[in-house]
Amino acid sequence: MHLTFYGVRGSCPCSGPSYATFGGATSCVLVETGSDVPIIFDAGTGMRALGSDLQPRLVERGVPLHARVLLTHLHYDHLLGLPFFSPLEDPGAVVEIYGPRQGETSLSDLINGAVTPPFFPVQMKEFACDVRLVEMADEDFSTEDATVSSRWVEHTDPTLGYRVESAGLSVAYLPDHQAPLDRVTVSDGVRDLCQGVDVLIHDAQYDDEEFSRRSDWGHSTVAYAVRVAIEVGARQLVLFHHDPAHDDERILALEAAARHLPGAEAIERIVAAREGMTIDMEAMTR
Ligand SMILES: [Zn+2]
Ligand SMILES: [Zn+2]
Repeated sequence: MHLTFYGVRGSCPCSGPSYATFGGATSCVLVETGSDVPIIFDAGTGMRALGSDLQPRLVERGVPLHARVLLTHLHYDHLLGLPFFSPLEDPGAVVEIYGPRQGETSLSDLINGAVTPPFFPVQMKEFACDVRLVEMADEDFSTEDATVSSRWVEHTDPTLGYRVESAGLSVAYLPDHQAPLDRVTVSDGVRDLCQGVDVLIHDAQYDDEEFSRRSDWGHSTVAYAVRVAIEVGARQLVLFHHDPAHDDERILALEAAARHLPGAEAIERIVAAREGMTIDMEAMTR
């Protein structure tokens, strides 16, 4: 399994020299398991660059894209890249979009309602590609060579976290996760997703002081991300969904501080996600 981080920022894209190291594109991570059908965590603004990277590979293979997009939720920072994903213009492409059930209104109606004039110049259905929407709750399903699990995760609107397992390796993705007020308790759903995982990609939007002012804004602290990783026995922790107010210097300081928290030595590696970063998970077994 191989991971590529196309967008690591939370809430709102940002740009400028002070963001050069970690990047400003929002949540989008490519998960390649070995089959020809890649998995994509979220459709944030990083998805535009992912489409550009995939295009030459598809031309070389001569086969249209078939991909599975796992949406955690529908906040703009997780959806805005979708209509800029170039394979949507390919009539042969198939894009399955899995996302959280939203109560009364269908996922299809909500996504079609977001990608439509006057918010976007064309309607979702006008893209040539075959888009298939699948509503998810607490579920597990199998692909050609992987198992995908989804569980509800505490946030500000219906939100899922995901776990993907393939060839004995596992990655869990919880980019938006409301830490409990005690910042100690770990919910059953989160345990299900993260137990013994090789790579945990977790919300690390705030420090403790910021959390004290925004404790109901739907996010975690760096320290709580470390807490979850220790509790579930994760091997690697990727701090993710960086606050737009955090420039490179600040994230470097948070990353360094995370490595020195009590118990953090139990985690093989703690790293703040950087745009363009890759993790070759097979190398973790060598
Ligand atoms: Zn978000
Ligand atoms: Zn959110």
